Amino acid sequence: MAKIGKNLDDLLDGNRAQILRYLVQNNGCSRVEIAKTIGLKQASITKIVRSLINAEVIQETGFTEGLKGRRSIGLSFNYTKYRIIGMKLSWQGLKTCLFDLQGNRYEKVINYTTEYLTAKNIAGVIEKMADNIRELQSKCPDVIAAGVALPGPFHRDTGTLLLHTELADRFYPIKEALCKKVPLPIFFEHDAAAGALAYWWFKTNCNTRQTLLHLLVSEGVGGGVVSNGQIFSGCHGLSTELGHIIIDYKGKKCVCGARGCLDAYCRSIALETRAGELLAKFPKSTLSNAEHITIRAIFEALQSGDELAVYLIHEAGQYLGYGLVSLIPIFDPDIVVISDIITHGGQTLMKGINHILDTKLSSYYNKPKIILMDPAEDLVLLGAAAIAIDGILARPTEHLIRTGPSCKSMSQS
Ligand SMILES: [Zn+2]
Repeated sequence: MAKIGKNLDDLLDGNRAQILRYLVQNNGCSRVEIAKTIGLKQASITKIVRSLINAEVIQETGFTEGLKGRRSIGLSFNYTKYRIIGMKLSWQGLKTCLFDLQGNRYEKVINYTTEYLTAKNIAGVIEKMADNIRELQSKCPDVIAAGVALPGPFHRDTGTLLLHTELADRFYPIKEALCKKVPLPIFFEHDAAAGALAYWWFKTNCNTRQTLLHLLVSEGVGGGVVSNGQIFSGCHGLSTELGHIIIDYKGKKCVCGARGCLDAYCRSIALETRAGELLAKFPKSTLSNAEHITIRAIFEALQSGDELAVYLIHEAGQYLGYGLVSLIPIFDPDIVVISDIITHGGQTLMKGINHILDTKLSSYYNKPKIILMDPAEDLVLLGAAAIAIDGILARPTEHLIRTGPSCKSMSQS
């Protein structure tokens, strides 16, 4: 049972966490500025800052323009001292990479392709994850944590992932299985939520007043929400499976068993199937020559202006638009970020989304800013690093107040 009360050590850790979080987000600020923002007395700030400097977690960086134009000593997080491992587990592969605390990648991404992830092959994948962590730890002793972004349904409270078995789907204790193999703090999060946190950490300048909704559209459709700088996780840690919001209650059968889920219209396989259905309407499409229509072939056809591909992706944009028309009144986001394979749809996709938002969104709500990520940018892999960064900064005494050899020699990619 989680304790409710706070001992003096807990209070100190909480204040360190507040200071570090503010400092990471406002590099170069002064003690006075931190005291004013956090609401602690100057003497307390001075004491805590001294302990963080002594532990080399932060450092003084020369004079800065302080409040009322007074010169103050600026403080900076010691970004060069720590490294984080980010791991993105998907249904058919694993990506692993080393990051610093500013989200810069170090070393090359380690790619590992698997058969579709099930209860049968998960043990081998976990062994590979442990091997990758050990390999990066041996190269860089200053790895302080790892973050794992994984597909859903993922139960945050129990650290379990729903996997297919021959008999029935069951939740597998992935967190326990990996943590047993490597003695390192490892943080786990649903992939779309991790992507949302990455965008908030590294692309919005950590604006705590922002509410951000992320839709990850690839092998499936996932959703993540960051509000007040925190991932919205719900009561049982299973929230924001937004791909299963129903946009047509009499619609297509979804893998979850329901009908008309957004996922059933926008996941890659759904687009491939829909392209096959549309061949009769667009017989001149270049896709009619394909033995098997793949998502890659659809986007290549889109690039060359193929009418079927344009129709299909515009339609997918409209489905996403209908999903957002339902989601915006729930979360009231000011930014919606869309990432992964679907973003190859570019302006055609955006036209579909905007058409529905402009005509169907309730007038009670402001239309949020819609951002399509660059298809080359892996927001979820960055998100894996972001959840580890967020996790260690939440408990700095345990994770940062320690010493170790420097990692400065490692090359940034
Ligand atoms: Zn569903």
